[in-house]
Amino acid sequence: MKMFQYVRPSDAAAAILAHAKDQRASFIAGGTNLLDLMKRGVASPDRLVDVNALSLREISQDKNHLRIGALATNSTVADHQLVVKNYPLLSQALNAGASAQLRNMATVGGNLMQRTRCPYFYDTAMPCNKREPGTGCGALEGFNRMHAIFGTSDKCIAVNPGDMSVALVALGAAVHVKGPGGERQIPIEEFHRLPGDAPQKDTTLGRDELITSVSLSSSFFSEHSHYLKIRDRSSYAFALVSVAAALQLDGKRIVKARLAMGGVAHKPWRLAGAEKILEGKLATEETFAAAAAAAMSGAKAFKHNAFKLKLAPLSIIEALKKAVA
Ligand code: SF4
Repeated sequence: MKMFQYVRPSDAAAAILAHAKDQRASFIAGGTNLLDLMKRGVASPDRLVDVNALSLREISQDKNHLRIGALATNSTVADHQLVVKNYPLLSQALNAGASAQLRNMATVGGNLMQRTRCPYFYDTAMPCNKREPGTGCGALEGFNRMHAIFGTSDKCIAVNPGDMSVALVALGAAVHVKGPGGERQIPIEEFHRLPGDAPQKDTTLGRDELITSVSLSSSFFSEHSHYLKIRDRSSYAFALVSVAAALQLDGKRIVKARLAMGGVAHKPWRLAGAEKILEGKLATEETFAAAAAAAMSGAKAFKHNAFKLKLAPLSIIEALKKAVA
C-alpha cells in the first residue's frame, strides 16, 4: 500500500479544510470499503482525513424529522427504537447489509459513499472507466451477471451496492452536507447519479463536501413496508435485486406508495411509474402485477443478467405482498 498522511481533526470545519488542502485526500470513517480499495490499489489517497472525532453520531427526533448523524453506525441505526418503530423499512434494509461485524463499523455517511462491487473495478489489471476513465469497461463484454438493467451507458453498467440507500429513496430522505461554501441538503434521489459519460463520479457531492447527517420526514409507512433482498446466499452478499416497498393503506385501498429497487442500476432506482399505478387502487395481486410490469419499462439486459428481467418484477410483487401483510 502507498504511504499516506493521516490527520484526525476535531470539528467539521477543520476536517473540510484538511480535505481541501490536498486534491488527493479522502475522508475516512468506518473504513469498511475505503481500506479494501486502498489495499488493492484501486484508491490511493495522499491524505486520510479521519472524521471519527466529529460530533456526528447523534440520532434525534424533532416535531417533523428524524435526524441521523453521518457517523452513526449501521447497527446503531438499525436497532434504534425510533427507527424500528417509525421507519422499520430502514431498519430491515440495514440489517440485510453486510455482516454484523461490518455493520458495527460502517457509518451512515460511509454507506452512502460506498463504491460498486463490480469485479473489474477491483482488478487493476482490467479496464474500467470508473477506476481509470478512458480505459474501457471490462464488464460490457465480460461476466456481467451482477450488473445493471436500468440507466446504463456504454461507459459503465455497474450497480450501486447499497441496501440502506434503497430504503432511504423509498422513504424520501435528504442528505445534509457541509463544504467550503456552506451547508446544503440533497434529496436522496439526486445524491447518487447514473454513469453517463463520467462513471468515475458516483454521487453529486462536491469535492470537499462532508456528509453531516440524513433526515427523514414523518413516516406514513410505519405499518406497511418491507425490504426484500434477493441474493446468492442468505447473508453477507450483495443484492441481485432488492425492493423497498412502502404503502399507506386505508382498509384495502392504497393511499400512498413508494417503491425503490437495488441491484439494478448505478443508483437506487425509484419506481415512480409503478407508484402511480398503485395509488388509489385496491391492494391486490393484480394491482401489484400491473405495477411490477410498469416498473420494468426501459429495462435492458446484458449477456449474463437477463434473469433480472424476470426476477425484478417477481420481487416487486413479493415485496408489496409482504408490505401489506
Ligand atoms: Fe468499471 Fe463500470 Fe465497467 Fe464495472 S461496469 S468495469 S465499474 S466501467
